[in-house]
Amino acid sequence: MTKVNNNEVIKYKAIFFDFGGTLMCAESDNVAHLHMMKDIIQKFNLSASPEDMVVKYNSYLFTKEMTLLDTNPEEKCFTPLRESTKKAFKGVLTEYNIHPSNEDYHWFKEMYYKNHKIYVKLFPETMGIIKYLRNHGSIHIGIISDIDNDYQDFQFNVFGIKEMFDSITTSEEVRSYKPEPKIFQMALNKAGCQAEESIIIGDSYKKDIIGGKNMGMSTIWINKSSEKDTDKNEADFIVTHLKEIFPILNNLIK
Ligand SMILES: [Mg+2]
Repeated sequence: MTKVNNNEVIKYKAIFFDFGGTLMCAESDNVAHLHMMKDIIQKFNLSASPEDMVVKYNSYLFTKEMTLLDTNPEEKCFTPLRESTKKAFKGVLTEYNIHPSNEDYHWFKEMYYKNHKIYVKLFPETMGIIKYLRNHGSIHIGIISDIDNDYQDFQFNVFGIKEMFDSITTSEEVRSYKPEPKIFQMALNKAGCQAEESIIIGDSYKKDIIGGKNMGMSTIWINKSSEKDTDKNEADFIVTHLKEIFPILNNLIK
């Protein structure tokens, strides 16, 4: 924790969480991808290392709009993750001179969900934090996530957490990714509050913190990779681990 912006007392009405890398362990998502590559290697009888294949797969998966790398605002367009995922599946196989059929893609989709169901995990602290907030009066608890609607629904059902949130806002719903204002505004509309009455918690400085602060939200950045934070002035609080947000929230919403 490093910084409090002002001395005024704000009555917060909503707390929003990013999902991937904030409540859900991003490393576990990588483990799912690694197992997917093992399944692909077995099905297509490839002589390849799953680790190398994951790197190739991810290079197709993460579009410029998703990663914010080299994005030219003139060329911005929205691509749902399922399309990027299909492109990644085809792309990685093309590198081994295989051109998958529609049937192969159906197989891949089933295998994709199977591996994500088995390997993707929440952080150990996630349930405790949400339950703590749930017990804290009437504050709105929402999700703001760069995710497709159907995958979000699937994953939240697997974890049994859907009912724990008052609102879930996805990039697919508004057809734009963070830090674009649309997704934040939609979430605020659902919560029925002003940006200044809300807190956003996320692990991406560029997406969650810049995006939230541009709207006027209070921001808590989970800087897990210990990125240099000297010029990260848009974060009101900086922590390195999800569990460190307990005392901050306790203070902000008491
Ligand atoms: Mg994230």
